Amino acid sequence: MASRSLLDLSPATRARMLDFQERAGAAGLFLLVTCTLRTAQEQAALYAQGRTAPGRVVTWAKPGQSLHETGQAVDVVPMRGGVCVWGTTGADLDLWRQVGALGEAAGLEWGGRWPAKIRDYPHFQFKG
Ligand SMILES: [Zn+2]
Repeated sequence: MASRSLLDLSPATRARMLDFQERAGAAGLFLLVTCTLRTAQEQAALYAQGRTAPGRVVTWAKPGQSLHETGQAVDVVPMRGGVCVWGTTGADLDLWRQVGALGEAAGLEWGGRWPAKIRDYPHFQFKG
């Protein structure tokens, strides 16, 4: 099972993530971490989903292409009123944009800025 621990992030990514959480907290937001480190096998299984396995496509990164495999990426979801906000339209999109800006201010690259086809709102990474 993929890790949700910040201890599994690279030191440079972890430092930025801690800054990100601090900025979110100051803005009254709580971020639930849903994934940090993922093995190549786990990435392969995710990539298969929606292609050769049931479900919807959730990643465009093949094994070896995701920074989750090197602890340089983290997925988060903001919570509002104790509920995870997964939606990406209307007020939910405004919240994601706020979260994205906070992550960027902490020095992370935000997947919410990627082209529509591969856009990934929960994803933040630091290539170093
Ligand atoms: Zn991710």
